[in-house]
Amino acid sequence: MWRPFASDHGDPIEHATGLEKRELLAKMGGNDDPFDMKVIKRSAGTRSCPNEIPSAFDERIVGCICDSEANSISWMWLHKGEPKRCECGYWFNLVHKAPV
Ligand SMILES: [Zn+2]
Repeated sequence: MWRPFASDHGDPIEHATGLEKRELLAKMGGNDDPFDMKVIKRSAGTRSCPNEIPSAFDERIVGCICDSEANSISWMWLHKGEPKRCECGYWFNLVHKAPV
């Protein structure tokens, strides 16, 4: 199965910032939405009703636009079966999606 990164090298995106991160994201694939980077409309985002993030993998990176008036996005790794809370308080949960 193809994975975005080799896990033994850590998470390059976590270590990159700003422009560097943007370049990294741009280089990741030839298709225009290789990592489902389309904006998903946030639901309530509570612990009991988290935002569902579809993925064909057991883990994926998600970006939370914590403040719609800010240009900053919080990137985090989401693992199947482990709902995660962004620092802004929104919850995310990885749900399985069939590979394209
Ligand atoms: Zn957030």
